[in-house]
Amino acid sequence: MKIHEFQAKDLFCSFSIPVPSGKLACTPGQAVDIAKGLPGPPWVVKAQIHAGGRGKGGGVRLTNSLQEVERAADEILSNPLITPQTGPSGQKVRQLLIEEGLDIDREFYLGIVIDRKLECPVIIFSQAGGMEIEEVSAKHPELVLIEAIDITHGFMPYQARNLFYAIGPMPDKAILKGFSAILSQLYKLFISKDCSLVEINPFVITKSGRPVALDAKINFDDNALFRQKEIAQLHDPYEMDELDARASQSNLNYIRLDGNIGAMVNGAGLAMATMDLIKLAGAEPANFLDVGGGASEEMVANGLKIILSDKRVKAILINIFGGIMRCDVLARGVVKAAEDVEIKVPLIVRLEGTNVEEGREILRDSDLDFSVAKDMEEAARMVAQQVS
Ligand code: ADP
Ligand code: MG
Repeated sequence: MKIHEFQAKDLFCSFSIPVPSGKLACTPGQAVDIAKGLPGPPWVVKAQIHAGGRGKGGGVRLTNSLQEVERAADEILSNPLITPQTGPSGQKVRQLLIEEGLDIDREFYLGIVIDRKLECPVIIFSQAGGMEIEEVSAKHPELVLIEAIDITHGFMPYQARNLFYAIGPMPDKAILKGFSAILSQLYKLFISKDCSLVEINPFVITKSGRPVALDAKINFDDNALFRQKEIAQLHDPYEMDELDARASQSNLNYIRLDGNIGAMVNGAGLAMATMDLIKLAGAEPANFLDVGGGASEEMVANGLKIILSDKRVKAILINIFGGIMRCDVLARGVVKAAEDVEIKVPLIVRLEGTNVEEGREILRDSDLDFSVAKDMEEAARMVAQQVS
């Protein structure tokens, strides 16, 4: 799970990690009022969306007057923000973080992730801050420093020294002391909140010698959300793709793909095999949708409705093997979805397994217009023909 920068900065505050003073605004008027109460000018107006690279896309504006704050806020809120991470159509911005603008002396990169090979958290640190760490790592691997943390001991002060003594020129002792305390707090946050990633890029030292987290990104392990109730509440449904959100509400395994064949299948293995067959037949699947082994009528109906709301879908293949799931349940789900949403694209059905006769009968007796395939291969061929 991802959260917004302002939420991550609130968490930083509760762990005594210094951040610029700032507040959230939803309108240009609010942005101006907030700026009035902050040190400045300059003030910084920052779009709150989950995608990174906002600076490059014009989603982080340095402003020198209240009029500029108002104009920047208005512009960011009224146009979709396109960054290297949002895709070409961009993302609507609903919230802005208004911050004091800091006088930056030096920028660093600071992150903590789990290293799968080492099987432990690692601190990633670089004096080449502000740039994407992937880029630094590709062009100047010597500038990316890594400290692996033994979770039985936790973060040790000598590890901070390992990192700082490699910085050239080395900052003052007093600054390094503050820096070291921040690293230790950041590690505490990472472990206690079940994070999968904490990233501060840039972490800065101001001209007055203050270390501050200028940006903040935190991802959490979804599997730990059951014990991180406060974190789970930070989830912002607006950031999710609408179809993804609906699928997750209905407990369906759904992944959007690039093609135009909607596929509804039960079981992940069968779903993958079905996608392979669609490709083999010369077409491209629009999604992976596994309704699960024991899907209910309701889940089947919701799954089909999700596929039907995808405007790109030109034909649908339903491929069900009734093992735990019974074919009559599937058929009732399909009929139910068709009662609520008109099916305007060709529908190919391949059913096999438990209660298959009953399932076929339910489909036959309904008003549904569909074709039956005798096996998977034929089903894939039939559906591919619809779009060729
Ligand atoms: P993103 O990583 O999404 O581009 P950042 O929060 O890193 O967004 O902001 C981009 C750049 O804007 C930073 O590298 C920094 O140079 C500048 N910046 C961000 N916040 C402030 C601030 N409060 N004061 C001064 N400069 C800032
Ligand atoms: Mg950044």
